[in-house]
Amino acid sequence: MYGFDKKIGTADDLAKDKYGIYATRNTQIEMHLNRAAKQKLIPIENLPEMLEKALSKPKGEPVKAIINQNRLIAYCDMCGGAEAINPGGSFYCLTCYNVGNDGVPRPITFPRQLQNII
Ligand SMILES: [Zn+2]
Repeated sequence: MYGFDKKIGTADDLAKDKYGIYATRNTQIEMHLNRAAKQKLIPIENLPEMLEKALSKPKGEPVKAIINQNRLIAYCDMCGGAEAINPGGSFYCLTCYNVGNDGVPRPITFPRQLQNII
């Protein structure tokens, strides 16, 4: 279970807890954006472009990976949110949708100390 196992919890671990054993971080992003559109939190007509951008290759300023209570996360310096991340993954904030980065994921830097743990 995400954050409670002996191993460091990743974004894919969190997605599996929420959406089933085949789920990944991308599943979580898709489900989140679809739900936000259904609830009219984002314009439905923007959904296809937002999904395409959210799942594209990262660009822009990197965010820094940290471990918080046995979870691998990164803080969003644009809105103050935080997201579960994957080793070698990218950062997409489900609070601000990376609007400040044109809606595209950002790269993540993994400090050397973390690389030895995860
Ligand atoms: Zn954010």
